[in-house]
Amino acid sequence: MLPAVFIGHGSPMNAIEDNSFTQGWRKFADKLPPLKGILVISAHWETEGTFITASKKPETIHDFYGFPKELYDVPYPAIGSPELALKIRSIVSSVNVGFDHDRGLDHGTWSVLMKMFPKPIVPILQLSLDINMSFEQHLTLGKQLRPLREKGILIIGSGNIVHNLRLMRPGQPFPFALEFDKYVKDNLLFRDEKALIDLPARLAEKAMPTSEHYLPLLYAFGASDGEKPEFFNEEFFMCSLSMACVSFQKP
Ligand code: ZN
Repeated sequence: MLPAVFIGHGSPMNAIEDNSFTQGWRKFADKLPPLKGILVISAHWETEGTFITASKKPETIHDFYGFPKELYDVPYPAIGSPELALKIRSIVSSVNVGFDHDRGLDHGTWSVLMKMFPKPIVPILQLSLDINMSFEQHLTLGKQLRPLREKGILIIGSGNIVHNLRLMRPGQPFPFALEFDKYVKDNLLFRDEKALIDLPARLAEKAMPTSEHYLPLLYAFGASDGEKPEFFNEEFFMCSLSMACVSFQKP
């Protein structure tokens, strides 16, 4: 059974840098058994309704602004699979999943995967985040993805537990950032679904002014099967980005 994992993706620059975060991702990937496919739920694909990528050759989307040209030239030669898209759609019962035949992979996916799997050989698909769904509905959908883990599909949520770009600056993490990060990690350990859905507003409004970087965590957690979370890359980037990753894995 493959792990379900949440990756703190941080800056798109990680795609072309070699640092402790990218090394942590690579180390995680190196320990995995052979895969049949990868399904990513990324913070950077929000839609009305839920969609899955269904093209045979998803393009690399450079969905960011103001970075060096080098980063815009990076290709990630991924393959897709309309057949796998169909299979995934068929196991989801709480919502209708639409096919998107044109959508490629955003940087929440490829900036991480090009470090984990520099030469992709299995299909890579993305499932979108429906902006109209509640936290509970996202968690419910995540739970329905669980059986994929037994079929050789690696489920990856890609976001950041603490994500406040406005407050980014060099230095030590803010106290609220540390507190929120710990709150979330503790409740992953306790498997307290309610606490992960009903976040304390006092912390959440600063730690995650918008929810899209947090929601992918609910998919990885939902797809877990009672396993104890294992944390890695537990560092902060620029005070207000938690780079923490969480793997749920059978011993
Ligand atoms: Zn992001």
